[in-house]
Amino acid sequence: MTSPEPVHEQGSSRLATDVDVLVVGAGITGIYQLHRAREAGFSVLLLEAGGGVGGTWFWNRYPGARFDSESYTYAYLFSKELFEEWEWPEHFAQQPEIERYLNHVVDRFDLRRHMQFDATITSAIYDELSGTWTVATSNGAEVRARFLIAATGVLSVPWFPHVPGRDEFGGASYHTGMWPATPVDLAGKRVAVIGTGSSGVQVIPAIAGEVAALTVYQRTANWCTPLNNAPILPGEQARLRADFEAMRERLNRSMHGFLHRRHDRATFDDSRADRWAFFETMWNSPGFAKLNSNYTDLLLDHAANAEWCEFIAEKIRSIVDDPETARKLIPNDHRFAEKRPPFVTGYYEAYNNPDVSLVDLVETPIVRIAASGIETADGVREFDIVVWATGFDFGTGALVRMGIRGRGGLALEDHWADGPTTFLGIHSTGFPNLFFPGGPHAAAGNNPRYNGDQVDYITDTLVYLRDRGYDTIEVDPAAEAEWTEMIDTGAALSPFGERSYFFGANVPGKPRKYLLNSGGRPKLFAAIADVVGSDYKAFRLTRSSVSGPTPSPV
Ligand code: NAP
Repeated sequence: MTSPEPVHEQGSSRLATDVDVLVVGAGITGIYQLHRAREAGFSVLLLEAGGGVGGTWFWNRYPGARFDSESYTYAYLFSKELFEEWEWPEHFAQQPEIERYLNHVVDRFDLRRHMQFDATITSAIYDELSGTWTVATSNGAEVRARFLIAATGVLSVPWFPHVPGRDEFGGASYHTGMWPATPVDLAGKRVAVIGTGSSGVQVIPAIAGEVAALTVYQRTANWCTPLNNAPILPGEQARLRADFEAMRERLNRSMHGFLHRRHDRATFDDSRADRWAFFETMWNSPGFAKLNSNYTDLLLDHAANAEWCEFIAEKIRSIVDDPETARKLIPNDHRFAEKRPPFVTGYYEAYNNPDVSLVDLVETPIVRIAASGIETADGVREFDIVVWATGFDFGTGALVRMGIRGRGGLALEDHWADGPTTFLGIHSTGFPNLFFPGGPHAAAGNNPRYNGDQVDYITDTLVYLRDRGYDTIEVDPAAEAEWTEMIDTGAALSPFGERSYFFGANVPGKPRKYLLNSGGRPKLFAAIADVVGSDYKAFRLTRSSVSGPTPSPV
């Protein structure tokens, strides 16, 4: 990093705060941040918009929702005891199990008493004089904290496309990302699902057998491959426990936070027959192994990628009875992994159910939502329920809707008007004492692994500041520019195309900027080591001139 020496100043005048640290969001990242900050001796309050624990895994409770990373690689690894006492029943756990797990963690580590639910942040204002944040919530509360940690997630603002008449539908509408906690009665109903991303392709087979009729509205077909979920048998449970340390070590060293072993051959090293046999192994492999363990050139060489796509297309044709439906389900506009590939259970098979039909929106676009159903170019189909599986305002969605105002009243949404600018995907210039783990520029793989790395760094930073008597920390503009430049330059090498929501492409008017961490974990680790090794050279650190009491922990 080419940043100046840290500025050590007597700056802010310290006012009493309600808490040292205010965490926003009770998802996987926020829960861990609360735990780590408590463990380090800070007073902490966590505010959560939802009525319970889980974040993404609280809101996305639609039928069929489940992990597509292996449960034990997605879960917390900070406590061996926790790992040993929780048995995941399946390699890819379903949402109710995930929610149970997160509640278990919260209770086991006595975190619930530091949490408040149904508290949506309406504003977060930084006061330069005192170096504190004042955060207001929808339920009228106001909290002053020295440090604000927005663990608000990348997939937390459901996106509804602008379709005329959406509010005029007379039946029930649900977004997969805001599924009600009370059961939705789908039995015997005429249901439409709009969208065939990872959420849509999970919900479709899960409800196909229950509803009277299911109509899928697909704009872009996706390269779906089997999740290959299975129960974790007692012998495997024992092995997981015995191998815990080695597994954690491997995950910590892995580029993307998975256990899958890399292959050592390129696509055209093999004959077509051998290639097809290898692809068959990949087809039968679990989840993301199809990216991580596939031929080494799969994501780099278009001809190699096309071979794998042809293999998947053959599979689709062999599973789906109706050739016309199969044709529509085969993507024709993007390579494998150019968009985030979904992993499915019984998805293609669902189209063999006579009660399931597919509407191709390229051929017959949606004209409007009518009171009775959905009107496309070829007429109106009537429904009782419409499911919007239309994705999220990814990466920055929650952060720019929180009313965050930094130094001089700077609005985060203005600072990021051309796309997010960050350092480590954690800090942004003009917003002292604000951290946003698990936000834009954070991850590029198995999210909790990256986000946990960020939480560990943030906690170490809070301790560093406390030990040296600093009250404020703000990243230098040069460091922010350098990290953001690294992200933007590296984005060109990403397998994801600019039409992916990882570039904000699904939300009209959103800047087309890469929202993942194109440097991956190695770059994050190296940059953190640089920060620590250089004594926080990339930051401006200030000390209060007046000391005041910090009340006892909330
Ligand atoms: P998504 O991948 O963004 O998919 C949204 C879908 O809605 C796409 O098929 C999109 O079509 C369609 N759509 C958007 N606007 C539309 C319009 N105006 N008319 C018709 N269709 C429209 O969202 P998602 O499926 O919720 O998944 C988001 C991410 O959440 C995933 O990529 C994954 O990271 C995560 N997720 C993970 C799991 C898991 O297994 N753990 C499950 C679900 C989700 P186009 O492609 O044409 O834009």
